[in-house]
Amino acid sequence: MSASTDFLLAIEDLTVSFDGFKAVEDLSMYIDKNELRVIIGPNGAGKTTLLDLICGKTKSSSGSIKFKNSELTKLAEHEIVRTGVGRKFQTPSIYENLTVYENLEVSYPEGRSVFGSLFFQSDDKVRDTVLQIAEDIQLLDALDTEAAVLSHGQKQWLEIGMLLMQDPELLMLDEPVAGMSAKERDETAELLNRICQNRSVIVIEHDMEFVKKIARKVTVLHQGKILAEGDMDKVQNDEKVIEVYLGH
Ligand code: ADP
Ligand code: MG
Repeated sequence: MSASTDFLLAIEDLTVSFDGFKAVEDLSMYIDKNELRVIIGPNGAGKTTLLDLICGKTKSSSGSIKFKNSELTKLAEHEIVRTGVGRKFQTPSIYENLTVYENLEVSYPEGRSVFGSLFFQSDDKVRDTVLQIAEDIQLLDALDTEAAVLSHGQKQWLEIGMLLMQDPELLMLDEPVAGMSAKERDETAELLNRICQNRSVIVIEHDMEFVKKIARKVTVLHQGKILAEGDMDKVQNDEKVIEVYLGH
């Protein structure tokens, strides 16, 4: 078998130390093309820090993050976005005073003119992309709605849509269903199952009912290290996982 080049993302021996405290320690993890990976683990396990490291918000102390042919540990955040990595933070960063359509439109990568995104002249290609993604995120009927009046769940979906406008090969979502209603959670599970058809997705989530609806392979983090990895069944029945996480 050839080396890690077949993986979309290959993380090897990754460590980050904050004043001597290792939030992520000697972590190795491999994500396939078109894979949906769920990461679970107790508070403080290092899940968000791992995403921060991949997207370049936090710089590693040692180790490697290879994405396609790029070594991400050597790149700045905006360069990492350009390689095809999109990351959603826990609180949505949408433009409240713009419509759903406008929020999606300004997120189109070539849509930013030198005058700033609001002066952008729309064309058919952008419009088609906006409509397709609005359908994927279930906001086709709300295109002219101001983002401010959307429900909490719809705002989260809009931000996912804004990331999809950049067509990332790797999309990372940190606790996407936090604060959502049961119905919105179900709809988000369906949304993720739809959008992972042609890209890889990493999802951090605490809600186990939601995780069960989307999970293929699950990685359990604990104290900056991988405690267990495998399908839902394997992870749920793992003694160590039950002890530090699921048992609570
Ligand atoms: P999780 O997302 O799994 O709940 P985090 O990745 O947010 O965990 O945090 C992991 C640990 O690293 C925590 O103990 C947290 O306090 C610590 N940590 C995270 N970021 C920093 C930072 N910038 N400086 C110092 N400590 C940090
Ligand atoms: Mg977190």
